[in-house]
Amino acid sequence: ERVNIIPFFHHILDRFEMNKSENIVIDRHMPQENVFLWLDKDKINQVIDNIVSNAIKYSPEGGTIKFRVVKEKQRLLVSISDQGMGIAREKLEKIFERFYRADKARSRELGGTGLGLAIAKEIIETHHGQIWAESKEGKGTTILFTLPLIKKKRGVKS
Ligand code: ATP
Ligand code: MG
Repeated sequence: ERVNIIPFFHHILDRFEMNKSENIVIDRHMPQENVFLWLDKDKINQVIDNIVSNAIKYSPEGGTIKFRVVKEKQRLLVSISDQGMGIAREKLEKIFERFYRADKARSRELGGTGLGLAIAKEIIETHHGQIWAESKEGKGTTILFTLPLIKKKRGVKS
């Protein structure tokens, strides 16, 4: 479906802030203009939900969550940053694998199956985008994904 992406993102984040018991404020940096993308709203909602949930879950001391959107020439770049525990460099690519959990002991306490990012990757790739992570252990993590600006219907359910 054709979606005006910035209001759509605001809506997701508003709902997220309202539904969480903790007092979560997501710092937003997004362009004002109308940007239309062709996407499956439920699926993209699921991607953002998992990434933001992770940012909260793996940030035991709180900290700010930043949601940034940049309109590039041919793609939209979305990045979600936290100031949590971070991920070791050698584990950065593995976190997108099914059932992979970076810190077994701590992850077990926090709960989860290790599927969230694998599903996110599958969804973003179905949308012809990319997803990756940048992190500094002990400093925080940024998950980035792109979505093509040019409308592509193939492989994406409307
Ligand atoms: P699920 O999402 O299925 O409930 P999960 O959160 O463990 O379980 P993923 O979302 O796929 O699974 O994340 C995989 C692993 O990557 C996590 O177990 C965690 O070790 C690491 N990880 C993901 N996001 C972050 C983050 N923001 N900060 C630190 N580690 C993270
Ligand atoms: Mg998760």
